[in-house]
Amino acid sequence: MELLKKKIEAEGRVLSDAVLKVDSFLNHQIDPVLMQEIGKEFARLFKMDGVTKVLTLESSGIAPSVMTALELGVPVVFARKRKSLTLTDDLLTTTVYSFTKQESNEISVSNKFLQKSDRILVIDDFLANGQAALGLANLVEKAGAQMVGIGIVIEKSFQEGGEKLRKLGFKVESLAEIASLANGKVRFVNHRAEGMAI
Ligand code: 5GP
Repeated sequence: MELLKKKIEAEGRVLSDAVLKVDSFLNHQIDPVLMQEIGKEFARLFKMDGVTKVLTLESSGIAPSVMTALELGVPVVFARKRKSLTLTDDLLTTTVYSFTKQESNEISVSNKFLQKSDRILVIDDFLANGQAALGLANLVEKAGAQMVGIGIVIEKSFQEGGEKLRKLGFKVESLAEIASLANGKVRFVNHRAEGMAI
C-alpha cells in the first residue's frame, strides 16, 4: 500500500535493527484518513471470506480494525490485556509474549462476543514473531469459531512471524512489508524486483 509506505518513510523512526516507531500515525497519535484507507484495503483483501467479526488486541490494533469492520459491515472485538472489573462474563484467556515489552501478558475476551458460528478476521498493527496473532488465533479456537485470515498493517519480514503463520495455513495479508531496519534505514520488500529475478 503506497500511501502507508510513504508515511512510514516520512515519519517512521528506526529505534534498533528490530524495532520501528510509528507513534505519529498508528501507535499513539492516529491518522484517521490513513486508517480509513487501511480499512478499505483490508476489506478489499478479505471481502470474499465471509467475515462476521474482526478481532484485535488493545490498543494499537483497534483503529485499523474499526475502519476495516466499518467497510465490511461487521463488529470489532478487542482482546484486553488487563482484566477489567466490568469484564465479569465467562472469559476466554490465553498468554501472549509481548515483543516490545518483553514480558508475558494474559489476554482475554468475553465468550459472549466470539461465537461458534463466527468467521473471524484477526487484525494487528505489527507482525514480528507472531505471538500476538497466534494468541488471538488461540482465542478463536477456544471459542470454536473459524479463523478466516490475518491482516497486518506492518509486517517485519525479516522476523519469523509471517513464515510461521503462513506455514500453519493462515491467509496473511500485510499492507507494508519491511525487509530490513539495518543501519537506521527502512527497506521494504520489493515484490516487483523478486518477480523479475525469477
Ligand atoms: P509479535 O507478537 O508478532 O512478536 O509482535 C507483534 C506485536 O508487538 C504487535 O502487537 C505490536 O504491538 C508489537 N510490535 C512488534 N514489533 C514492533 C515494532 O517494530 N514497532 C512497534 N511499535 N510495535 C511492535
